[in-house]
Amino acid sequence: MARQVHVNGRWLPEGEASVSVFDRGFLMADGVYEVTSVLDGRLVDFAGHMARLRRSLAALSMDLPLDDAALLALHREAVARNALSEGMVYLQVTRGAPPERDFAWPDPPVPPTLVLFTQAKPGLARGPERGIGVISIPDLRWARRDIKTVQLLYPSWGKMIARGRGADDAWMVEDGLVTEGTSNNAWIVAGGRLVTRPPSEAILSGITRAAVLRLVAEAGLSLEERPFTLAEAQAADEAFVTSATTFVLPVVRIDDRPVGGGSPGPVAARLRALYVEEARRSAV
Ligand code: PMP
Repeated sequence: MARQVHVNGRWLPEGEASVSVFDRGFLMADGVYEVTSVLDGRLVDFAGHMARLRRSLAALSMDLPLDDAALLALHREAVARNALSEGMVYLQVTRGAPPERDFAWPDPPVPPTLVLFTQAKPGLARGPERGIGVISIPDLRWARRDIKTVQLLYPSWGKMIARGRGADDAWMVEDGLVTEGTSNNAWIVAGGRLVTRPPSEAILSGITRAAVLRLVAEAGLSLEERPFTLAEAQAADEAFVTSATTFVLPVVRIDDRPVGGGSPGPVAARLRALYVEEARRSAV
């Protein structure tokens, strides 16, 4: 059966779902999004994703006339209509499709465009058999990375640069410090401490990152929220990334240097297990 996609209040088979060529998401990347993972047919960290969606919308003075209960109902309907057990729900909101292309925001505003679709990812919870290798690239994104916009050209290009160099992903570096991965937050374990960069306009404040921070505190592990250098990461005992679609994923190589022994380490494995357990328990 064709995947069912939500567009502005309607559910359509994926082949029939479309938005206007004048949509500002298409013309100007004037839109924001969220990705919520699904385990056992339930939504993981849903409240956190919706809270961040509100922050992204507010930062861009964008309106979405749906409350969280309505958004939850839409997410659940996406899961149910597509019989999704493991995977993710993608939600995008744009500033809509005014009749003319204009840099200025439409005044009066036009209705936002809202799209939801699902992607199945069987085996999501089982996790990776191996860690990933990353390369470092300069962080050439704009300076408001805390807003989760659909402006994903550089992250997408960065993943292709990584692939071209035989790696899985890229970590971005600015002023000598790692900002984050192309689509994930970066962590290291060094000297018995977890280290990850604090939220700011320089990175996306990951919902998975926040959940893992809570688990780190509960487990009594020591933590330093501060930026770190690439050299520090290469010399660390472990490195890993967090995101809604990968949970906790070990990084075993950075540029040409193996991290730790070049294989996934115990802290990442433990945090992954704790995260998946908590995600299953608290999913809605
Ligand atoms: N940083 C960036 C740049 C991302 O694109 C993502 C994933 N959307 C993350 C971090 C991780 O965020 P989350 O844990 O909310 O998926």
